[in-house]
Amino acid sequence: MTDALHPFGPHFGFGLYVHWPYCTRICPYCDFNVYAAKDRDPSLLVEAICADIHAHRSRMPDHGALDSVYLGGGTPSLLQPSDVQKILQTADDVFGVKPGAEVTLEANPNDIMRADLTGLRSAGVNRLSVGVQSLRDSALAFLGRDHDADGAKASVARAMRVFQSLSVDLIYARPDQQADDWQTELEDVLALGMPHLSLYELTIKEGTAFGLAVGRGQISPMPDDDQADLFELTQDILDKAGLPAYEVSNHAMSPAHQSVHNLIYWQGGDWIGAGPGAHGRVTVGGHRYAYEAQLRPEVYMANMQALGTGWGDAQRLEPKAIAQELLSMGLRPTSGIDIARIEAVTGQPVSREKIAVFADEGWVRFDQGVLSLTAAGRLLADALTAQLSP
Ligand code: SF4
Repeated sequence: MTDALHPFGPHFGFGLYVHWPYCTRICPYCDFNVYAAKDRDPSLLVEAICADIHAHRSRMPDHGALDSVYLGGGTPSLLQPSDVQKILQTADDVFGVKPGAEVTLEANPNDIMRADLTGLRSAGVNRLSVGVQSLRDSALAFLGRDHDADGAKASVARAMRVFQSLSVDLIYARPDQQADDWQTELEDVLALGMPHLSLYELTIKEGTAFGLAVGRGQISPMPDDDQADLFELTQDILDKAGLPAYEVSNHAMSPAHQSVHNLIYWQGGDWIGAGPGAHGRVTVGGHRYAYEAQLRPEVYMANMQALGTGWGDAQRLEPKAIAQELLSMGLRPTSGIDIARIEAVTGQPVSREKIAVFADEGWVRFDQGVLSLTAAGRLLADALTAQLSP
């Protein structure tokens, strides 16, 4: 079946995202669905997540085995290997986890130094995503992290002794960050030798502690032009280091190290979300459904007990919404998206005139029906997507 006849769904991969919402402390830039871990007993939420995975199965009986499982948060590295094992065993019992499937756990550096890493590997985890965020102590203090640069380096070294597949997250474009400092910091990170890097520009969201600090004039976000300069410098350094971008914020040493799970999101595959506030997209009977689990852990757990589900009614997406999402997500990876898939969903052509103008400007490539962004176009991703959206 061609992609145009089958423009979205498990044909493009099938994943499970598990949201673990607790953190030791809440970082001032974070706008995720997170809560202070305090002395909570994790077992009730683990049980609820496992029950939720079962509940999904009844709504999608025809889906095959999972290509990926991603335990994100929050801080899932606060979980014991036995709890991780329970969740992964449930996923395997209920849907099946394909041999060689990518199983990622997000981990904070301090947790890695304490964790039973071989226990996590035995539980089924085969990839860690480490929240290093910076290798500068002053930046880590500013970002409210509870580790320092030496601790971050030691944690990556420890993790790499157990996991071959490892990603490091960094946050750049911090207020007042200088290009030459960032270059040296990035070189220090590259010396760690991990095969995958996720590099996020600091975005300051309303409602976060940083958002309030901006409102009080205590911090100023980096101006857009300076951010764009740092983005370009970053691409140069990582291209030369052999970790080119395969997506706006993600770099890998080789295709084998690209994130299978994130590619499912970007390429229009299906995924289930389990855990408070988790989102999902699933295709049933040729229709695409979106749903979101209850945000608050207490409500999510109470609903699981009372109703047998942690989420409300799934929303059936209209063709226009599906096409917009396919385009905005599909332009993120450098591999781009086959425009025939968008047209198959809407029944309307995507403007070739606009594509030609954007190609002349050097922002996109259009090759055999596949549209992708150039490095210059990645800086304008949102605006270009909005222009081409049905
Ligand atoms: S550890 Fe991660 S998820 Fe938790 S508050 Fe900090 S940034 Fe947010």
